[in-house]
Amino acid sequence: MKTAVCPGSFDPVTLGHIDIIRRAAAIFDHVIVVVMNNTSKTAMFTQEERVDFLKRATAGMTNVEIDSYGGLLADYTQMKNASVIVKGLRALSDFEYEFQMALTNRKLNPQAETAFLTTSTDYMYLSSSLVKQVAMLGGDIRDFVPACIVDDILRKVRQINSNKI
Ligand code: ADP
Repeated sequence: MKTAVCPGSFDPVTLGHIDIIRRAAAIFDHVIVVVMNNTSKTAMFTQEERVDFLKRATAGMTNVEIDSYGGLLADYTQMKNASVIVKGLRALSDFEYEFQMALTNRKLNPQAETAFLTTSTDYMYLSSSLVKQVAMLGGDIRDFVPACIVDDILRKVRQINSNKI
């Protein structure tokens, strides 16, 4: 059985992420989407919220599992016996960073290959930070994230804004 891991911050999950997860699930037997704790990014949503959003957004995908991990991706892939790390590429600007990560992960765990799926043209502009910016400024995010998490994002924005007053 071929297991692939889709890592990311998913803060929050977007339709761009879902597109990559769905396409990975059509290629591999088992896909584990893992919410990584990236200490260099300040998250808007807790790890539990991000996992919950992903679980709801992928509810119909039978070979997709959601998990979270606080350590190294290379250790996680080894632990899960995964042979592939799937990443999405939006634009040339993603490439340098992703290339560096792929080489580092191969050095740390030579058993796992990184595979890149190119974004769908519909989502090439889309990122979690864009969703957060638009939501914080009162814009419509319904075209950017799964419908089942729109209200959760708006609730969080209201909570953040009321803490500012
Ligand atoms: P972001 O860069 O939006 O914070 P993550 O760190 O959660 O996203 O990214 C997880 C994975 O999803 C990465 O491989 C990233 O390149 C990919 N990804 C993010 N947004 C898109 C998109 N719109 N289309 C394709 N892949 C994407």
